[in-house]
Amino acid sequence: MAKKHNPLASSCLKEGDLIVITGAGGFIAGALAGYFREQGFTRIRAIDKKPLPEWYQRTEGVECLCMDLSNKDNCRRACEGAVEVYNLAADMGGMGFIERFRIECLRSILINIHMIESAFRANAQRYFFSSSACAYNVELQKDRNCRALKESDAYPAMAERGYGWEKLMSEMFCQEYCAERGFEAHIARFHNVYGPFGTWDGGREKAPAAICRKVIEAKDKDMKEIVIWGDGNQTRSFMYIDDCVKGIDMIMHCDELIATPVNLGSDRLISINELVSIVEGIGGIKLKRKYDFDAPKGVTKRNSDNTFIQKILGWQPNTPLEEGLKNTYEWIEQQYKGRKAGKLTAN
Ligand code: NAD
Repeated sequence: MAKKHNPLASSCLKEGDLIVITGAGGFIAGALAGYFREQGFTRIRAIDKKPLPEWYQRTEGVECLCMDLSNKDNCRRACEGAVEVYNLAADMGGMGFIERFRIECLRSILINIHMIESAFRANAQRYFFSSSACAYNVELQKDRNCRALKESDAYPAMAERGYGWEKLMSEMFCQEYCAERGFEAHIARFHNVYGPFGTWDGGREKAPAAICRKVIEAKDKDMKEIVIWGDGNQTRSFMYIDDCVKGIDMIMHCDELIATPVNLGSDRLISINELVSIVEGIGGIKLKRKYDFDAPKGVTKRNSDNTFIQKILGWQPNTPLEEGLKNTYEWIEQQYKGRKAGKLTAN
């Protein structure tokens, strides 16, 4: 396929245009702020409700603000003067979190309600919303024969309770702001994102980070066993963080993707057992597997159908899993050792 020309922020914006990024004390938005700074943008406003010392990463030259964006007035302040707004703030985590704290997940709708209205009032040119594969109908993810999820599979709707419904409703807000008010909104449905500076401990971490941490801990404490949630045969795809931020930039600046949700994820399907084997290989250790059948394990199978993103952008996430996991493992190992030595770590 001929390589397409995809406009990016660097070709659509002026260096001093204000880019607002929410959730920037967290994983993906923190990386996005760094990405735009590297592109040479001089006015980036990063916001999170977490106190600044708890942010996973802070980029020099980026204005960092601590504000709760479920509050309307804070959203108004956040969007003042914005040319582009990237809303990635959400109360979320891995399966362990979203199955247990559905109310918290649902409450994130307030962030999008106030952020999109504030971005609209501020006359921002574009608005980005980070949706999720959890917005897809769970009935289509129940057994091993299910196919990969394509964009039309969100309807008829039967999203993941709590978190998935919030994403689906927020997507609808974005689409209606476009339809009724002509406001340009872009929506990406992320499939599991992993990489350095992601949550790796504390209950909100996702499978790749949790498995890296468990292997590192087993090595450190000379443990022989690893606990796996469910039977380990559930399958997922995992996208490396660099692909995610690049994809966000491309999706935000693509005219064919206005108010049109698109998958942003890897389409390499892998079981949790296979994921454990790769991480064991990186750590140079083999552990006895103990399966916890009472732990949350989510849907049986979830993969990203990348036909649409390929067609529109001529691109899809492509960092090899082994390479991304190695970087992630090394970063978590550093964090683990740092914490053991009493240093302040990312999470
Ligand atoms: P994260 O938890 O690392 O970051 C989210 C940040 O939002 C946190 O730092 C949190 O403090 C902040 N936040 C929550 N409520 C807030 C509020 N009221 N005001 C201001 N800040 C608030 O999560 P992430 O992995 O970086 O995810 C970013 C976005 O991508 C989220 O919307 C998430 O739902 C979506 N997403 C992530 C994944 C993934 O695999 N990581 C998959 C699908 C969708």
